[in-house]
Amino acid sequence: MSKITWKSKRILTENGMVNGYITIEDGYIRDISDHCDGAYQDAGELGIYPGIIDIHNHGFGGWSMTDPCEDEDVRGYAKALASVGVTGILPTAKEDAFEAVARVMDQDYEGAAIYGIHSEGPFWARGGENTVGMSWPLPDVEETKRLTARAGGKMAMMAIAPELPGAYDVIRYLHAQGIKVACCHTAAHSREIYDALEHVGFDIATHLGNGMQGIHHRDVGALGALLLSEGLYYEVITDLNHICADMLKIMFRLQPYEKFCLISDSNYIAGLPAGTYMRYGRKMFADEKGLILNSDGRICGSGKWVLYNIGQLVNHVGVPLEAALRMASINPARFLGIQEKTGSIRSGKRADLMFVDEQFVCHRTYVGGKIVFDRLTDTGERIFNPEAMKRRVENA
Ligand SMILES: [Zn+2]
Repeated sequence: MSKITWKSKRILTENGMVNGYITIEDGYIRDISDHCDGAYQDAGELGIYPGIIDIHNHGFGGWSMTDPCEDEDVRGYAKALASVGVTGILPTAKEDAFEAVARVMDQDYEGAAIYGIHSEGPFWARGGENTVGMSWPLPDVEETKRLTARAGGKMAMMAIAPELPGAYDVIRYLHAQGIKVACCHTAAHSREIYDALEHVGFDIATHLGNGMQGIHHRDVGALGALLLSEGLYYEVITDLNHICADMLKIMFRLQPYEKFCLISDSNYIAGLPAGTYMRYGRKMFADEKGLILNSDGRICGSGKWVLYNIGQLVNHVGVPLEAALRMASINPARFLGIQEKTGSIRSGKRADLMFVDEQFVCHRTYVGGKIVFDRLTDTGERIFNPEAMKRRVENA
């Protein structure tokens, strides 16, 4: 039996911020109180918040889910993500990584809990995007069956462009399997978004505002149609590289905070030192602000993580800290249907927690009541992928 009580000035509970004590026992949150009769540890200036659940993440700390993967890559990835407060994850993987992710989900591993595989594509429409090729496979139910089988029944979510021929059949198939459907990298006009919602429905918009038509005053595009629709969740990248602060303010006026899930969309360079990295014989540039660009100057995923994005919302968009934290924890938990188990701080829930300072740096992470990251001992050399560090060819 393990039991520990922490004191903190800021514990974000389901009922708001508490200055008090939280007791973790045998993996679960046992009690939150304003007094403590027994022994306790003092978290000092660190806030204790619900751990982050990132439902769209391709890699971190040099570990990539978009390359062929071994089990150790997935375990390294889960461990590295805990260093930025992530306690739950949907690895957003390419097909070559599905099997390893599925295997590791059945193992004991130390780090963010893996809740399933997220396949972003392959049925998408990326023709409008700078320098991205025009040809992608069209939606096909048999191909979808093959992909979900390769994921070992652990596909949790697939993103698809709903306007493509055959998309409705694929969406119906995914829903029949209990797999969430995201609307992504789409060339849809507003009419096609409304039609898809009416005929088959989908569950969430992939990185709202990115990879879709924006709002014009005579045509609100996919972005406007998604924001005017009800019953959807919205992934959003709030690093302020992908979407400007004013557009985020527009989004939050049109839909309540409860509908948004903060995501990183990070790739494997995220978390590594800024500089130039070689990948598939091409250079990728990572700067201090989290921009990752290819040699054509196109944004290739994000170099930042959700905890950083929470800080951006609080410091530059005027979102209250509590709302920003919830967009990264209980909202994605609700989206995934695991809100009774995790996603917030309440007595009886699993102890998935992050200890965070006022600069939005994570110092300690608990998953299931076990410490899986401690800033004092888990230094970069211990959590980064050493192979990725070898691909760094120049400093920033
Ligand atoms: Zn992505």
